[in-house]
Amino acid sequence: MGFFDRMRASLARFMSGRYGADQLSQAMVIAAIVLTVLGILTGIGLLGLVSNVLLLLAVFRMLSKDRYRRAHENQVYLEKTFGLRKDMTERMNRFKNRKKFCYFSCPKCRTKLRVPRGVGNVTITCKSCGNKFDKKA
Ligand SMILES: [Zn+2]
Repeated sequence: MGFFDRMRASLARFMSGRYGADQLSQAMVIAAIVLTVLGILTGIGLLGLVSNVLLLLAVFRMLSKDRYRRAHENQVYLEKTFGLRKDMTERMNRFKNRKKFCYFSCPKCRTKLRVPRGVGNVTITCKSCGNKFDKKA
């Protein structure tokens, strides 16, 4: 068994029964990185401290053996941020497809609709309320 195989095996032994990374830990690490950068840019030392606390908490959660409690925390996090994460995904998809589609919201019910870009003047029929309106795409 080579050195790296032994390292991998001992890491697997160390991590067995431990919770590992989840969405909440990932968000904490990302928030810590953002806070560190902000702290450096603004010169506010408190941001660096908060970032270190977040990192420590993230590592604690990943190494924790209380899997049930960590999973529950993650579930609460996912439920509380559902709307925000859905909104971010929508915005990213819009940005990714910005050359293919034009996006409009229905003036009556605010449903978000998309039409292929470059079709000219179109009458859009809302898929949820049936309202018709004209737009240039
Ligand atoms: Zn509508």
